Amino acid sequence: MEPRFACTACGKCCHGLLPLTLTDAVAHAVRFPLALVWTVVRSNAKSYDLATRLGTSVRLPNRKTVAVLIQPTAYLPNHFPCPALQPDNLCGIHADKPSRCRTMPFYPYREEKDQADLLVPRKGWECDVSAEAPVVYRNHAILDRKDFDRERAELLEQAPVMRTYADYVLKYMPWIVNDLAKMAAAPAGGKLVTSLSSFLTATRRTDARELAAAQAPLMQAMAERTRTDPALADFHRNYAGWAKEMERLAQRG
Ligand code: SF4
Ligand code: SF4
Repeated sequence: MEPRFACTACGKCCHGLLPLTLTDAVAHAVRFPLALVWTVVRSNAKSYDLATRLGTSVRLPNRKTVAVLIQPTAYLPNHFPCPALQPDNLCGIHADKPSRCRTMPFYPYREEKDQADLLVPRKGWECDVSAEAPVVYRNHAILDRKDFDRERAELLEQAPVMRTYADYVLKYMPWIVNDLAKMAAAPAGGKLVTSLSSFLTATRRTDARELAAAQAPLMQAMAERTRTDPALADFHRNYAGWAKEMERLAQRG
């Protein structure tokens, strides 16, 4: 049976971490609290070669090499709705929403031929996969590939910048390689989070002050929202620290 899929706009997938292209992260800096999320892709994974092109390769202390994706990300706890999600579960920025949202449920960090399981809705998601929904994927190919191609092209274009950032972090924070090794050894993998300020410093962006000024109040608001929940202690610590970093950077002459 051919996979069918239609979005019913239930809003369920509009929660938690939202990976963005760099272009979208910058364009939506007044909306999303931003961080960089690192994910290890092991050499036996289907998407390994693609991940080395979109991300970087890192040699671990055990001499194994892994691919590492570094995604600019709207950094939100799993159950927190996207700031653009409206009470009616519709997207408040539909005409202007990020590439990641347009390409859903497809995922250009994977090869096109490996997308079939993404068409199976996760638990609680209300995507329409019935016989009434349109066929969207046939013979391991995406039928309407405009959004997928656009997001993939943006990811390829930004890859050199992300590699510059990875080199900077691994040079000035070398202990991170041990965290990556732990993630590579863990059955469930894992994620490592670094700050937007480290990215702005490493890449010497000319708009760093402007981005920091947009982020400072968001980080402050998120620190406040996560202040009393012990389960969100890591998020709170990051938001509070990053709020200070963003304020300092915004005021730098
Ligand atoms: S930008 Fe819109 S579509 Fe994307 S996660 Fe937010 S509410 Fe959902
Ligand atoms: S979970 Fe499925 S139906 Fe709900 S908003 Fe996301 S893609 Fe659409």
